[in-house]
Amino acid sequence: MSTPDGKVRLRSTLDAVPAYKPGKPAAEREGITAYKMSSNENPYPPLPSVVEVLRDAAGLVNRYPDMSVSALTGSLAQHLGVPVEHLATGTGSVGVLQQLIQITCEPGDEVVYAWRSFEAYPIVVALSGATSVQVPLDADARHDLPAMAAAITDKTRLILVCTPNNPTGPAVHADELDTFLGKVPSDVLVVIDEAYLEFGRDERVPDALALYRAHPNVAVLRTFSKAYGLAGLRVGYAVAQEPVATALRKAAVPFGVTDLGQRAAIASLRAYDELAERVDALVLERDRMWKALRDQGWELPETQANFVWLPLGEDTMDFAAAADEAGLTVRPFAGEGCRCSVAETEANDRLIEVAAAFRDRRG
Ligand SMILES: *Cc1c(COP(=O)(O)O)cnc(C)c1O
Repeated sequence: MSTPDGKVRLRSTLDAVPAYKPGKPAAEREGITAYKMSSNENPYPPLPSVVEVLRDAAGLVNRYPDMSVSALTGSLAQHLGVPVEHLATGTGSVGVLQQLIQITCEPGDEVVYAWRSFEAYPIVVALSGATSVQVPLDADARHDLPAMAAAITDKTRLILVCTPNNPTGPAVHADELDTFLGKVPSDVLVVIDEAYLEFGRDERVPDALALYRAHPNVAVLRTFSKAYGLAGLRVGYAVAQEPVATALRKAAVPFGVTDLGQRAAIASLRAYDELAERVDALVLERDRMWKALRDQGWELPETQANFVWLPLGEDTMDFAAAADEAGLTVRPFAGEGCRCSVAETEANDRLIEVAAAFRDRRG
């Protein structure tokens, strides 16, 4: 017995899964250094102390990692002031996001999130067979939390709040999020995705850990990929109260977080003061870029992350090509805009020049 065409039967939900478009690598150009500004990576290499830990642990990779990730969760618990039982790790926070969907959604259930936002959201939702409910950002490229509250139905199982929002940059404010949480049914999980938390300088940003303490239906999602500069090692985690955190640990890929990842994350937590200086430098660069672009006349949304958003509309792909020509790879979203990561100072300078020349040409 087989299907008429004899092809392997795959889940029909796969047809609805968009492909992830990773940021392109920097394209080499003759005579100029090429820079990658397309994946919101930390331009600094790992700290020497972290590299040393990795070098020492390299000889151990014939062994499986600690499946319970106990040393890292112990360090995190101390760092954050939360019980270890409230922590769950995964292969990057995108891995944890997959776990979050697996523990909440059956096919047909709804996941509410702002759009445009992180491009992994529609992919992981569609893979699970759940339905994405995308609520447009407001005119300032911010989450429209009242509209998101209005989009909740009795099928809603999960809500994703990306703050600061990738790719546009603004963060939600504490008072708005409080009001919003007051409208969410207590059996619907709200995930606060804080991948760029450390780059925030606005006092109005929410204290997500306080929200998780006050609300059993709030989970905080964080990563070592951005401020901590460990994108290549895939370590992310969630903080949530017991039933949610326990379920997340059940849904984890066994041995998913490698030994190198666990050790590097612990070493990075230990060296956080040193990393924080780099984050401060990146924030200064971000503000410098943002102001220079605004002075050129760009109407860009404010940003609390390590990138700026140029709302280019129809000119998006032309701008990405112009940047590419200058040895800079940015992340275009056709018809909408380009996300440009804060990178090395020379790259940031060059982006400012490319943007000025582009405006002059367009008049
Ligand atoms: C980069 C990013 C992440 C982190 O992904 P990892 O899997 O931890 O590398 C999560 N959420 C958002 C919104 C991001 O931009």
